[in-house]
Amino acid sequence: MATPDAAPAPDFLETSRKGVADTDLRRKLENSTGRHLDHVAHMRGEFPRYDDERDAARRIKEDAIGRLDELLIILKQKLEANGCNVFVAADAAEARDYILQVAKKAGSQRVVKGKSMTTEEIDLNPALERAGMKVVETDLGEYIVQLRRERPSHIITPAIHLSKEDIGQLFAEQLGIPYSAEPEVLTAAARERLRSIFLGADLGITGVNFAIAETGSLVLIENEGNGRLTSTLPETFIAVMGIEKVIPQLTDLSHFLEILARTGTGQKLTTYTNFISGPRRDGELDGPRAMHVVILDNGRSAMLADPVMREALYCLRCGACLNVCPVYRRIGGHAYNSPYPGPIGSIVSPNLFGSAAAKLPFASTLCGACRDICPVKIDIPRILLHLRWKANVTEPPIKWSADARRARAGVRRFARMARYPRSFRLLSRLGGLMLRPLTRDGYLRRMPGPFKNWTRWGRDFPAPGARRKETRGETVNASATQRPE
Ligand code: SF4
Repeated sequence: MATPDAAPAPDFLETSRKGVADTDLRRKLENSTGRHLDHVAHMRGEFPRYDDERDAARRIKEDAIGRLDELLIILKQKLEANGCNVFVAADAAEARDYILQVAKKAGSQRVVKGKSMTTEEIDLNPALERAGMKVVETDLGEYIVQLRRERPSHIITPAIHLSKEDIGQLFAEQLGIPYSAEPEVLTAAARERLRSIFLGADLGITGVNFAIAETGSLVLIENEGNGRLTSTLPETFIAVMGIEKVIPQLTDLSHFLEILARTGTGQKLTTYTNFISGPRRDGELDGPRAMHVVILDNGRSAMLADPVMREALYCLRCGACLNVCPVYRRIGGHAYNSPYPGPIGSIVSPNLFGSAAAKLPFASTLCGACRDICPVKIDIPRILLHLRWKANVTEPPIKWSADARRARAGVRRFARMARYPRSFRLLSRLGGLMLRPLTRDGYLRRMPGPFKNWTRWGRDFPAPGARRKETRGETVNASATQRPE
């Protein structure tokens, strides 16, 4: 589902069912996302200004998105004054065509790439490969999924669905090294391969975290140093950014740096913060001889025009909302069939990829954990509800499976019944009595008949009419009622 004109994507309900059934995947996701959330909690705890910085960052984003047209014009002028070629692409096809044209003109054959979700969005790698170029992802996680011929399954942890044993096996098969599951051995093997690839590359492509209009500088934040090598070693460098990456001035950046790594990776600061302000100047010893910046719209203007949706353009792509989402943690990133999975993916994907992603806003319990963790406080549940409403009034309507249609009809019946509290209480008590043989501690471990899918994958259901001691956490959502594997 990378481009609107791509082949139809597999149905979300099918792929999510596969994800839920994969208990090994769920164990890996629980381990990784759980560790991440512990780190984030620790970082937040030792940084009392955290919430003030979130508010400051949100205010900057509100301002920047509110005058995007003006800031983009300034950014373009400054970048050009710094010696960059700037291309504004209306959609994925325009961006791909421009990059291909630059690559061909420069005679590029060997392309290295830094981490970039925007190039995933425009399906760049297949286009470069079809043109005969060898493309290598240099972020370790991206390199791993590229070796497996897979999409990243997380915005910032592309190989989150794999264990170190899986990676050891992959490297033994693909790189011809003896099997090892030691992270040091595996990273050393990847580093050795990638160093020689860097030295032979003639085109580098990366994404952009922030673009500062005031100075015409691009900011690239990373932990491995591969972004720095990708943007400086090859003769030609192309940075690809969405229009929403622009911020007004240099002093704004510090507010984002205070919160981005703390929320995204649980670090105080990422290892490298690169400032890129143009190609190599006379007398300089390194840097690319030519630099291009592709500024991509691809549906973002439509988001900007929608007063509810525009808040999604504040996103910093930190990935935290994925880690905290009970749905993402059960089904994994590949189930979403979009380069942007998880709560933020469920919002932006329908806008970027149209009807192919129309079901994603329904992939949420609306528990609000994503809103609580978001460093710029995006009200994701509100936008999801807005998109659900839009999906219900669009033509053609979403094609739901028979299972999903039954579930929706059941929820509608429940909603009708819940309007009459007396009858609701009476029915609850009757239901509770009938289901008593299946009830333990106020919960049903197995639901009968048409409700069986609820408990099929290890999820409990509060028994109707039962009075429970609240010992299982204060919220009843898919996460709180999940049984351990
Ligand atoms: S929506 Fe918020 S939490 Fe999710 S990726 Fe964007 S900035 Fe991070």
